[in-house]
Amino acid sequence: MKTAVVLLACLASAFAACPNIVSRSAWGARPPTSITYLSNPVPYVVIHHSESGTCSSQASCSALVRGFQDQHMDVNGWSDIGYSFLVGGDGNIYEGRGWDRVGAHAPGYNSNSIGICFIGSYISSAPSSTLVDPVRQLIQCGMDDRYVQLAHMTIGHRQAVATDCPGDALYSLIQTWPDFEPNP
Ligand SMILES: [Zn+2]
Repeated sequence: MKTAVVLLACLASAFAACPNIVSRSAWGARPPTSITYLSNPVPYVVIHHSESGTCSSQASCSALVRGFQDQHMDVNGWSDIGYSFLVGGDGNIYEGRGWDRVGAHAPGYNSNSIGICFIGSYISSAPSSTLVDPVRQLIQCGMDDRYVQLAHMTIGHRQAVATDCPGDALYSLIQTWPDFEPNP
């Protein structure tokens, strides 16, 4: 009985810390062509934007995520959608490769990071709290569940390779985060 109470308390805190995550099956993911597992907890979180249109419902965000997966698999030739997770304008987190699989999003960091993509283009304006809050929750959730190191470093894609990603406005925003690392 005591064990059950403790377990319930743990579950309650886990649910409180994690944002809503739309599973691969819920957004209609294709299966990956191959899987490589990460060594968790990882030391890095890499932030991206999709440099695409935005979405405001689970249906429209799922359609965009399916499109990214198609492009990554059919055009880029990758085994799956590149990102670990995505966030949409509907406030949902979308499961990409998830917590424990190596992604394809930032050269040099794919094997030691979680890659999170903000759906939309954030060059001149930053994403709203509707997108930012679930991402902060997601990173906390990853720390709580030991997928992400407590002392992890969050960086922008442009710190890994020459790219404008995650857009000037979103890059400015993540520089205010307590876990941002200016010199990875
Ligand atoms: Zn990127």
